[in-house]
Amino acid sequence: MEKVILVRYAEIHLKGLNRPFFERLLVDRIKQALNPVHASVEREQGRIFVYGIPEENIPECTDRLCRVFGIHSISVACCVEKTWDAVRAAAISEVEPFANRVDAPTFKCFARRSDKRFSMTSEQICRELGHEILEAYPNLKVDVHHPELPVTVEIRQNNAFVYTGEVLGAGGMPVGSNGKAMLLISGGIDSPVAGYMIAKRGVMLDAVHFYSYPYTSERARDKVVELTKLVSRYAGRINLYLVPFTDIQMTIYDKCPSTETTVLMRRLMMKIAERIAKETGSLALITGESIGQVASQTIESLCVTDDAVSMPVFRPLIGFDKEEIIDKAQKIGTFETSILPYEDCCTVFVPKHPVTKPKVEKLRESEALVDFEPLIAKAVSETERMNIG
Ligand code: ATP
Ligand code: MG
Repeated sequence: MEKVILVRYAEIHLKGLNRPFFERLLVDRIKQALNPVHASVEREQGRIFVYGIPEENIPECTDRLCRVFGIHSISVACCVEKTWDAVRAAAISEVEPFANRVDAPTFKCFARRSDKRFSMTSEQICRELGHEILEAYPNLKVDVHHPELPVTVEIRQNNAFVYTGEVLGAGGMPVGSNGKAMLLISGGIDSPVAGYMIAKRGVMLDAVHFYSYPYTSERARDKVVELTKLVSRYAGRINLYLVPFTDIQMTIYDKCPSTETTVLMRRLMMKIAERIAKETGSLALITGESIGQVASQTIESLCVTDDAVSMPVFRPLIGFDKEEIIDKAQKIGTFETSILPYEDCCTVFVPKHPVTKPKVEKLRESEALVDFEPLIAKAVSETERMNIG
C-alpha cells in the first residue's frame, strides 16, 4: 500500500485572487524542503499530496514538512483504490500497530467524500468501518466524544486516503509571499528567534552580521554561520552578509563619549544594515530586541536606534520575556548553538556606565564628531557574502 503525505494549509490566507499564487508558492517551498528525498508534490482540490516517498524516508519527510511555513497540518496516509475492500484493508492495517499495544487507544471513524459518486455515504463508511475494526481487534473500544485514535477516510477524485491522526505544521505563510527583510543576526539567543518569527509571516530573509577581528574570533563567526543555517531550515535560502566592524568600533571608542559607545555602535550597525538592505532588495530590518532587556534596549535607546535609519525596523520579540524567547529558541532548535560561549562584538567593549536614557539630539551630535561615511563605505565594500541553506 502506497504511503503518501497529505498536507493541509491554512485557507484563511488563501482567499480571492491571491489563492493560486499562495498555493503555487507553497508547493515550491515544499519541493525545496523535500529536494534531498526525491518525492513528487501535487496540488489537488485544496490539498497538497506528496507521493513516491520511500517508506524509510517518511519520518524525515514529516520533519522537513513541519518546518515549511504555510502548512497547517499533515497526515501520513495510505493511498488506495476507491473501493470499499481497499479502504477497509487499509484501515485495518493502519490501526494494527495501535491495537497491539497494552494500552490500546479508544477510536472513532471519520469520513469525507469529495467524490459523491462513491457508493456509500460518509455515515455508512464510518459505521461499517467501525464494525470492521472492532471485529478485527476486539480489544479496542469506540469513544465517540474523545477518541484517542481518529481513523479518517477521505474519498477524493482519483484515490481514497486512510490515516490515523495528524501532526501540526509550523503555520504561518509560505516564505516569499511577503517580500524580503534583513535580519541583524548576532551569536545570541534572540536574533535567530526574531528571524524565525518574521519568516513565518512569509517574509524571505537576508542576514547581516558584524564582527570585530581580532577582538572576536573565527569561532564566533562560525557560530553565526551555523545559527543562520538553523534559521534557513525554516526560512529557506539566506544571503548572509559578514561586515568587518573593527575600525568603526575602535573609532567610536577613541572619539565619542564613553557612556554612549553602545548606542552609537547600534546606530552604525543599523545604518550599514540599511544600506546593504537597500542594495539587495530588503524592505525592512529585523532585530532581536525586547523592551528593557539590557541598557541598549530601554525605550529611549530603541528610539535613538530607530532614528539612525528610515526603513521600518521589525522587533518581533519586543514584548517577550527572556524566558519566553528561550522557550521558543529551544523549540526551533537554535538555543544549544546560541549558548556556545563565544564573544560577540557588542560584548567586547561594554562601557562601565552606559546611558540608559539617551536623547536623540545628543546622540546625533556625538555621532557628528566623526565623519563615519568613509568608514561605512569601506565596511560595506569589504563585506563578504555567503549563501546559506
Ligand atoms: P541577541 O541574543 O540576538 O544577541 P541580545 O539580547 O544579546 O540579542 P544585543 O546584543 O543588545 O541584545 O543586540 C540586540 C540586537 O542587535 C540583536 O538581537 C541583533 O538583532 C542585533 N545585533 C547585536 N549584535 C550584532 C552583531 N554583531 N551583528 C549583527 N546584529 C547584531
Ligand atoms: Mg547579543
